[in-house]
Amino acid sequence: MSLLKDRGRSAVSRSGVIYRGLRQAISDHALLPGDKLPEDTIGERFGASRTLVREALMRLKAEGLVDMQPNRGAAVARPSLDEARHIFAARACLEREVMATLAVSITPRQLAALEAQVEKERDADGKDGLESIRFAGAFHVLLAEMSGNRVVARYVDELVSRCALIIALYGQPHASDCAVSEHRSIIEALRERNGAQAAKLMAHHLGEVEGRALLAQPSRRPDIGDILGRYALRRPRPATGAKAASESPEAGRENRRR
Ligand SMILES: [Zn+2]
Repeated sequence: MSLLKDRGRSAVSRSGVIYRGLRQAISDHALLPGDKLPEDTIGERFGASRTLVREALMRLKAEGLVDMQPNRGAAVARPSLDEARHIFAARACLEREVMATLAVSITPRQLAALEAQVEKERDADGKDGLESIRFAGAFHVLLAEMSGNRVVARYVDELVSRCALIIALYGQPHASDCAVSEHRSIIEALRERNGAQAAKLMAHHLGEVEGRALLAQPSRRPDIGDILGRYALRRPRPATGAKAASESPEAGRENRRR
């Protein structure tokens, strides 16, 4: 491989590290809606040029997680209430479809993997707010991946991140996102291959999450450089969030989940 190609690949992966770091920080509620994302501070923390930072920010903008205004720079997106409702509605459509597919195709191995994921949620419940948020989101992403439809999985992943943003913006302090018991009922319906029941439970569950998410007020912010310092050293996020426990930055937002 030529030196030029090597350089090209290394730049892409560097930009990917920034993208994944910022995306995870947003999902974790470490970065909150409206937080400024100065290219120079990000570049400094990640040891990357502004060009690479901008690439990462453009990707996040395409996913609806970042707003970029001429002359005002980038900031974590602040979805309006209407937009937030549309995001939840789109997520509910896709996840109902995932239930219908999985009720037909699910295997014992996949059921075991779902149970293991919910066990992680239960263990983190009430102990580590950051892990709770990650594991809860990972359950939904895992379901979508198991459906075998990569397009749906990609959009569910994106919408789960945007919902985390909405919960950060409008959710009450200590509001829960996903309840472990609701996830368990969904697994049971899938085990019985009852697609209608699984879809109904998922719709109810997401309705509950939305109800808890669209409630209250934004809160105060710590220094952006301090937040980014924790994410600049991170490795790529595992696809299902299954290994997230070993990669957690130490500090997180306070527990937002029962
Ligand atoms: Zn959930």
